[in-house]
Amino acid sequence: MNHLRPDPSLASRETTATDTGPIGTCRRCGTCCRRGGPALHLEDKTLVTEGLISPADLYTIRAGEPVRDDVAGGILVSAESDIVKIRDAPRSRACILFEADGNRCTIYARRPLECRILRCWDTTEIERCYRRDRLARVDLIGHIDGLWDLVAEHDRRCDARRLTELARRRGEPGVEAELSGMIRYDETLREGLTADGRVPAVILDFLLGRPVSVLLRALRIAAR
Ligand code: SF4
Repeated sequence: MNHLRPDPSLASRETTATDTGPIGTCRRCGTCCRRGGPALHLEDKTLVTEGLISPADLYTIRAGEPVRDDVAGGILVSAESDIVKIRDAPRSRACILFEADGNRCTIYARRPLECRILRCWDTTEIERCYRRDRLARVDLIGHIDGLWDLVAEHDRRCDARRLTELARRRGEPGVEAELSGMIRYDETLREGLTADGRVPAVILDFLLGRPVSVLLRALRIAAR
């Protein structure tokens, strides 16, 4: 599933196998689920608001973060808006909602849009839809006064575009100090939110995106 075009090698496996089902039918083999969870779209909102998908199962790629766009040939692009994704299972690349033992999606009957339209033998529909109507954090928590203000302030002070730019300009005067300030602010906010149990630590990557220090490491690797 991850992000978002199926690997060509997967497509070729699907079209040559003949033992378990005809070409053009989803055999629920679980291969796409083992490659990561989907990004959510507006029509998936009720899956979260009705509790089928917990915020603890999600993380946010914030606007401005570099992402690899597999549909566009694997190039690195800057996320235009929030991308709220289902996270991977611990120590695995599989979607956290995939049950490896039973080889099944635990919410199959109401799986998200991308999971429903992904056909590994024909990627036309997913290519048409994957950038449209993406669900953003504001759609889920924008109405919660106080919490949303805090998220918006964090976005302002740890702006992902600015972070990307600073990562490129390392070594220039003032850059390290600004980066250290962002890391400190981000860490302090996360500690403060979880210290008194107000916010469970498992939903921080959804609320605030991945920690600035983690992003910075990823940016260094991408730069190399
Ligand atoms: S939500 Fe379900 S169908 Fe979609 S990737 Fe996860 S396990 Fe697979």
